[in-house]
Order: sequence, then C-alpha cells, then structure tokens
Amino acid sequence: MVKYYSTNVVFEEIPDEVTLAIEITNCPGHCEGCHSPWLREDIGEELTPEKLNEILDKNDGVTCVCFMGEGNDIRGLLELAKIVRNRGLYAAIYSGREEVPKIFECYFNYIKVGPYIAEFGPLNVPTTNQRLYKIGESGCYDDYHEWVDITYKFWKRQ
Ligand code: SF4
Repeated sequence: MVKYYSTNVVFEEIPDEVTLAIEITNCPGHCEGCHSPWLREDIGEELTPEKLNEILDKNDGVTCVCFMGEGNDIRGLLELAKIVRNRGLYAAIYSGREEVPKIFECYFNYIKVGPYIAEFGPLNVPTTNQRLYKIGESGCYDDYHEWVDITYKFWKRQ
C-alpha cells in the first residue's frame, strides 16, 4: 500500500516544471541527518488511484507530479506513476537510493537518486552526491533510454 503525508505545489524540486510534490511515507532509508524523519513512519493516508486522480483534479495547471520518496510498495507506486503519465503530466521520483531498478525509466520522466549525506550537501550545492536525471523518451522495453544529468540546473540558481 502506498501512503502519503502531504501534497504541495513546488517550483524548485524539478527544474522548469510546476510540480505537485507528494510526500510518500514508509521510507526505508536511513540517511543520517534526514530532513523529514516522519516520512520513515507508517503514517498518512492511502494513496489509491482514485485518491491520486482526486488530488490531480484539484491541482489543474501543474506540469509534473513528483513522488518524494519511494515508500515500501514499489509496484503500487509505479501504477500511480502510470496514472500521472496517462493524464499528460510528467512523473518524477525522488529516491534516497544510490540506484533504482531499471524499470523506473519506463515510468518516470525525472529520477533523483542518492541519499542525503550532510558532508556533501543538498542538491543545490555543487558538492552534492545526489543526481537528478531527465529520462529520454523511447519505447518502454527497448534497451536504450538516455539519462541526462540535469543536477547542474540547481546550481545555476545560486
Ligand atoms: S530518503 Fe529522504 S526521507 Fe528517507 S531517510 Fe533519506 S532523507 Fe529521510
């Protein structure tokens, strides 16, 4: 079951997009200095397909939906990403893992990887260990999707 804690329209998380950020709970990560420790807990409301459509109906005008965290139900999360894409929106994921399963490139237009490590800093500093990729369009199961590293877009804003 996918559960979420909050939703917010944001402008920074995905460059050049108006993004509806959905905080996913049950994060399995253990980042030291975690910015949102409550997201590790089994809290929040179930994010069913019906609930997601209801939320999207109320947020007309966004161009992208970013799942902030993977939670503990990857299959359910991918099904939700498919709903986002079918509505003509970009789907994005902020993962705390170093790598995500390759299948993610079939469901997400943007993929952020890397845990938060305090000594390297957040995404908006050039020393960060985290990376945001824009995934090139191609058929889902052919073997080549281009992963373009656009992390530098966060640094230009400073
Ligand atoms: S991935 Fe994000 S929410 Fe999860 S432990 Fe790391 S910083 Fe916290």
